[in-house]
Amino acid sequence: MNKLLVKCIRCGKQWEKESAIAWGPDAFSSSLCSDCFVEVAKETIRRKQKNEGNFDCFGTADTYCDQIACKYRRWCLHLQQDEEAQPLTMAR
Ligand SMILES: [Zn+2]
Repeated sequence: MNKLLVKCIRCGKQWEKESAIAWGPDAFSSSLCSDCFVEVAKETIRRKQKNEGNFDCFGTADTYCDQIACKYRRWCLHLQQDEEAQPLTMAR
């Protein structure tokens, strides 16, 4: 699997993600890191949560959230970089 360098456009943090495409050594993709994404998106997402009849709690959970059906949960809990990981085992 090839690696693509991803740079956060807000804080400059860099990380790698796996990519099906072979990129040159200078290629990188601009994105937002987990922390910056939550900062930038929380106002909008909280408004959506309210409109959809849910708690407007986006960005307030630390590592655990019981709102399993919430569609913003994986971003809120910074899970979006682990999409290929095993499904989370729910500790109850
Ligand atoms: Zn950032």
